[in-house]
Amino acid sequence: MTEHQGIESGELSDFRKGVADWIKHNTPADPGFLLPQTFMEVGSEQVLSFLREWQHKVWSSGYLGMAWPKEYGGGGMPRIFQQIADEEMKKARVPICFNVIGLGWAGPLIIDTGTDFEKETYLKGILSGEDIWCQGFSEPNHGSDLGSIQTRAERDDNEYIINGSKIWTTMGNYAKYMILLARTDSQAERRYNGLSFFLAPMDAKGITTSPIQKLTGDYGFTETFFDDVRIPASCLMGEEGHGWRIAMQTLQYERGAEAGAAGGVAILSTVMNDLLRIAKDVQRDGEPLMQDPVTRDNLVKFLIEEQALYLAENRVKIPALCADYPNSVALSTKLRGTEFFRRMRQYALTLQGASSALYVGDEDAVEGGFWQRAYMNNFSTTIGGGTSQIQANIIGEHVLGLPKD
Ligand SMILES: Cc1cc2nc3c(=O)[nH]c(=O)nc-3n(C[C@H](O)[C@H](O)[C@H](O)COP(=O)(O)OP(=O)(O)OC[C@H]3O[C@@H](n4cnc5c(N)ncnc54)[C@H](O)[C@@H]3O)c2cc1C
Repeated sequence: MTEHQGIESGELSDFRKGVADWIKHNTPADPGFLLPQTFMEVGSEQVLSFLREWQHKVWSSGYLGMAWPKEYGGGGMPRIFQQIADEEMKKARVPICFNVIGLGWAGPLIIDTGTDFEKETYLKGILSGEDIWCQGFSEPNHGSDLGSIQTRAERDDNEYIINGSKIWTTMGNYAKYMILLARTDSQAERRYNGLSFFLAPMDAKGITTSPIQKLTGDYGFTETFFDDVRIPASCLMGEEGHGWRIAMQTLQYERGAEAGAAGGVAILSTVMNDLLRIAKDVQRDGEPLMQDPVTRDNLVKFLIEEQALYLAENRVKIPALCADYPNSVALSTKLRGTEFFRRMRQYALTLQGASSALYVGDEDAVEGGFWQRAYMNNFSTTIGGGTSQIQANIIGEHVLGLPKD
């Protein structure tokens, strides 16, 4: 049985036409400055306010949070409508809905496990774009090895006092709230049992952030320091010492288990048609590259892989086809999808020959340097939320039941 059984296909295709029409009349004009290709490159106030206005427009027009509960700002509709809206937005390459940590992981976590108070307090601001969320998991020496984090949260009456530092905090300098993993018990027998999970305010006294520049030249994440920061004890999510379980649930959303739950475009994706366009446009020895048999062979391999990914994504929508290994397709999509796009974008550069060395800002760069920037940006997705190696380990151990070694 599919999730949208009972909805007339005519209703869905009318809806799709409605979205396409809305996009046609509402997509903002080119602002004249470089927009981010992913939510991890929001690096200036100018970009932030443009994206905030856009996200607000998408939400207030009913195309974001469509499957979230109505009483908290969502649309209360079957998820298929959100999937269709997202497909149309991706196709039209509209700007991204930037508040991804809220939309993609903090929000679904609060909906699934939060108290009524937490739902009431946080959900609507995530959708409207008013309240930006960041994630305080990684620390300078603890990224993949998350269970060893050292940032401390000590209970003091009705407050917790936080000390330590986080790193790679996407939008840390703009966020109003952080999903924070901190150690409340350094003596716990198992290191995982000493961790707690907080929905922490970022305007608390003693929090400072320092932006970090990326390979692309853009900014987008920060180092985040906590110096005797006092937050209300009510910021604790769940029980003290249960943080690891909540963090793992959050990572499930981040790694794809709830992909697209809130909707919106998180990353400007490239599709095979974009690659084929380059192969037709770029000439070698007076002929379009598309005529070259080796190039054609490579392109066909990419096309097959893209189609397999697309079919796998559709399989997720049919629960009976995922009963053997629940979450397997969603989890493997992060690994296979991000690695596919990295290779595909790298190939786009190969096709450009010597021009592949020209970056954004060079007037001779192919398609304004879009591919060069997209290739470098792609490393973010193969590292953030768990590196490809870690993701492969998770699938091997937890989905396929392979031995740890
Ligand atoms: C663009 C971007 C945005 C990010 N945003 C955030 C954010 O908002 N909040 C946040 O908390 N974090 C964020 N991160 C951090 C991200 O989660 C970590 O970088 C990631 O988990 C890897 O940790 P690390 O950088 O410490 O690398 P390490 O853990 O030091 O890994 C280094 C290398 O060793 C490999 N490795 C490590 N352990 C194993 C193992 N057991 N088996 C096989 N290989 C292994 C890794 O795959 C990697 O190749 C972001 C990262 C990026 C790139």
